[in-house]
Amino acid sequence: MTIQISIPARRSLRTLVAGGAGFIGSHICDTLLRRGDTVVCIDNLHTGSLRNIRPLLNHPNFSFIEHDVREPLDLEGRLDRVYNLACPASPPHYQQDPVGTMKTCVLGTLNLLELAREKSARILQASTSEVYGDPEVHPQPETYVGHVNTIGPRACYDEGKRAAETLMFDYQRMYGLDIKVARIFNTYGPRMHENDGRVVSNFIVQALRGAPITVYGSGSQTRSFCFVDDLVRGLEMLMESPASVTGPINLGNPHEMSIEAIAREVLACTQSASTLEFKPLPVDDPKRRKPVITTAERLLGWRPQIPLRKGLEATIAYFALEVAGRAPSGPNRRPPRRPGRAQLALARSQ
Ligand code: NAD
Ligand code: UDP
Repeated sequence: MTIQISIPARRSLRTLVAGGAGFIGSHICDTLLRRGDTVVCIDNLHTGSLRNIRPLLNHPNFSFIEHDVREPLDLEGRLDRVYNLACPASPPHYQQDPVGTMKTCVLGTLNLLELAREKSARILQASTSEVYGDPEVHPQPETYVGHVNTIGPRACYDEGKRAAETLMFDYQRMYGLDIKVARIFNTYGPRMHENDGRVVSNFIVQALRGAPITVYGSGSQTRSFCFVDDLVRGLEMLMESPASVTGPINLGNPHEMSIEAIAREVLACTQSASTLEFKPLPVDDPKRRKPVITTAERLLGWRPQIPLRKGLEATIAYFALEVAGRAPSGPNRRPPRRPGRAQLALARSQ
């Protein structure tokens, strides 16, 4: 599926994408390279994979540095933009090492803010609808301050992302840094990993394998699913918006549906004979989620364009290859490395 570009032509930029070997990050790298930018991708390959960026590794404007954002960065040369996507996003992954997740959110954002400050670069933080917790206001506008259980198993991610937003705005107030904060709602698409653990990838892989579809709880809880191309277009539009547009801005598809309904949609699209298997609902699982996107519409002229059926078909086509063992994606199953202070002298991307 091609990304519909509605960003005006602009000069070529040098952009750092932290978490660029992950699901969303690798799509951002693709888009920026197509635009003519020079891209420095950094990732510790915790949930991301070199397979997601393999086609880019020989591109003259692309370089990859294995680095953990919890450590400070030295980067030679100019830098215009920083996208911070570095953080595990799936509940099973971010809960596996909750202290590590909190450090990634807080220290990682701090280190990238310092880099952006040193280079006078603009920085965009991938925040999340999880800052609203299990919301008591529905749908969720950016003005809603949220309802997060600070001591629950999701808090390492929710509170980490909330603290990261705080750091972004404190750097803007203290140092005049050019910041952007996107609150991303549930996004799906090709390059999610088959063992990612999130609902769309789980259901598609289960349906393709003829395995039971694991619906947690009654399946009446809701989410609103955005296809990755729409999201990446929104992130880029936010990044290139006037400096006065800082966010936070919700980016998501307001088409809300129950988890049971998404299971049935996946079954219909895959023509699978799998049956639904109901499992316990995880602790603190939000009951409802739907973005108010009037801010993105008004300030960016953005709204999602890809209907669920079309996005699911593209995602299913990807996973059909993945399940057959042929698609180029997947996290490396090794623990995060702590490489120390990286000297990021770049051979190719000045
Ligand atoms: P992902 O797990 O595929 O990508 C995250 C990437 O960050 C991976 O490549 C991982 O290896 C890397 N990473 C993790 N910790 C790191 C560290 N300490 N140092 C360097 N790299 C590290 O997940 P995704 O869905 O692509 O999410 C990307 C970003 O978007 C995350 O910050 C996530 O919180 C945010 N987000 C995603 C969604 C969604 O629905 N996909 C929703 C809200 C927010
Ligand atoms: N979910 C489910 N079966 C799965 C994975 C997830 O029913 O195999 C549910 C989960 O309990 C939640 C919703 O689907 O209510 C979305 O879960 P996901 O982990 O994708 O995202 P998040 O909860 O972070 O929005």
